[in-house]
Amino acid sequence: MEALIDTHAHLDFPEFSDLEAVLSRAAQKGVAEIITIGIDLPSSAKAVELAQSRPELYATVGIHPHDAFDLDPRSLDRLRDLARRDRVLAVGEIGLDYYRDRQPRPLQRECLHRQLELACEVGLPVVFHIRDAYDDFMSIIKTYVGSLQGVVLHCFSGDWAIARRCLDLGFYLSVPGTVTFPKATKLQEVVRRAPLDRLLLETDAPYLTPVPFRGKPNEPSYVFHTAEKVAELRGASLTEVARQTTRNAHGVFRMEETQSSRWVSA
Ligand SMILES: [Zn+2]
Ligand SMILES: [Zn+2]
Repeated sequence: MEALIDTHAHLDFPEFSDLEAVLSRAAQKGVAEIITIGIDLPSSAKAVELAQSRPELYATVGIHPHDAFDLDPRSLDRLRDLARRDRVLAVGEIGLDYYRDRQPRPLQRECLHRQLELACEVGLPVVFHIRDAYDDFMSIIKTYVGSLQGVVLHCFSGDWAIARRCLDLGFYLSVPGTVTFPKATKLQEVVRRAPLDRLLLETDAPYLTPVPFRGKPNEPSYVFHTAEKVAELRGASLTEVARQTTRNAHGVFRMEETQSSRWVSA
């Protein structure tokens, strides 16, 4: 079995207090690497700490649109400091959420701009959380696309037309466990039609649990079921899907470079 990567999990959440058990179940399912994602300053700091404690873990740091009120010059300085730490692969998850609308939209956009500037400054790719906001996302990203190291749309939720525009700009689409839901026809179409070399796999654990574990908290080992569904939808082998999506993650997040800088210099 080729190694899988869960490119988006929230391992600092209380659901994962028994981290050893979670990581061992992941390893049993072939999940060799996991990226744990920051959503605010405390979770970003925790993500970095986790990533520096285990060779299979990596981190991202960022402030989620739900926490946009948190961003001020001081927190931005703190985020910049975290972004430069060892084992940090990207700035994220950042973005726009017009579905939940927990923060005023102008504030969400302001928070996004400041963190995109930060990503350009520190030279890291970006993991985006975009819900019901692809139009604004597209107009904002235009300014930055030439200066960003890479763009990942986590939990991609657009239709094929939006996917096509994102692919044309060189972005990666990350596929969550919801692709296993019978009603997820829009996402399934995207997964069928997108080139395999632009897809990533994720859990967004503890959320978005795939079939057959729907109703339970999600965890990184379940990314295996997402990989199986992607293989089925594309008429590809699980081996091919695992190999290519792992290669994609290593490429966009420059994981091998990060690993060697950490483990050679240590
Ligand atoms: Zn998200
Ligand atoms: Zn997330």
